[in-house]
Amino acid sequence: MLYGSIEAGGTKFVCAVGNEDLEILHRESFPTTVPAETMAKVIAFFKKFETELVGIGIGSFGPIDIHEESPTYGYITSTPKLAWQNYDFVGAMKKEFSVPVAWTTDVNAAAYGEYVFGHGKGLDSVVYYTIGTGVGGGAIQKGQFVEGFSHPEMGHMLIVPHEDDSYKGNCPFHGNCLEGMAAGPAIEKRLGKKGADVPESDPFWTIEADYIAQCVYNTTLMLSPDVIILGGGVMKQQHMVKKVHEAFTNLMKGYVKTPSLDEYIVTPALEDNAGTMGCLALARKVALSA
Ligand code: ADP
Ligand code: ZN
Repeated sequence: MLYGSIEAGGTKFVCAVGNEDLEILHRESFPTTVPAETMAKVIAFFKKFETELVGIGIGSFGPIDIHEESPTYGYITSTPKLAWQNYDFVGAMKKEFSVPVAWTTDVNAAAYGEYVFGHGKGLDSVVYYTIGTGVGGGAIQKGQFVEGFSHPEMGHMLIVPHEDDSYKGNCPFHGNCLEGMAAGPAIEKRLGKKGADVPESDPFWTIEADYIAQCVYNTTLMLSPDVIILGGGVMKQQHMVKKVHEAFTNLMKGYVKTPSLDEYIVTPALEDNAGTMGCLALARKVALSA
């Protein structure tokens, strides 16, 4: 028996298959171009394993329709990526493979990976943020994704601009929301170089840490989760998590007594595998409950 995983991101789709112990056996990436092209590669990848495949887990960029009763359940909906607007992703997979399909956001999938195998293991309440090309957040409460009329869009929360930051933000909807101020492209536009090329000594990182700390502060006050996991390219700055701890302490002013910050605000235990592991675990869950 094999489980399939599709981590559908804005720049690439990562497809994988795992065995019953959710060990990754094969993995391949395809650039995100247009559905006809990208999905043909995705389908060809899983066709090689079709006879053993028993479930597929998809974590997709969004917004997506997650309501099972909705006529557009399984669609990517109002994404700025025009070619993918109103694309029936789950339908396309179901047409080719007669196995159950789990469907959630890319960041929920990563949260689930950490919940099952990483820093959320054994805990009730896990929040995961990715700070990368965009900012996204997902929350799990006792094994269920926190959602209502739709999935959360935590990356677009409002934050207070830092007094030393004159950048106006680049979110096409809100300008200076968290994503508009703190995602990788905002760093690049502000400083004229990629985040990876900004040295640890650059004073900008204090500003970035303040924005991420505001996000963690808001999350703490709203959900009091057991752990907040910070992933994505920007968190590859090794010094960042410590700076976030300091900025968070300054913002919270002792009001809420959280778990020790070394255990409460962490980077992903699964590193870049959180999304794939989460999709595999969701594939197993949907296959076992089918
Ligand atoms: P995506 O969000 O597209 O899935 P990533 O999580 O890798 O992918 O995020 C990519 C973003 O992170 C880019 O804007 C990139 O410039 C930025 N980034 C990647 N590595 C680093 C780094 N070491 N330091 C700061 N920013 C980085
Ligand atoms: Zn926004």
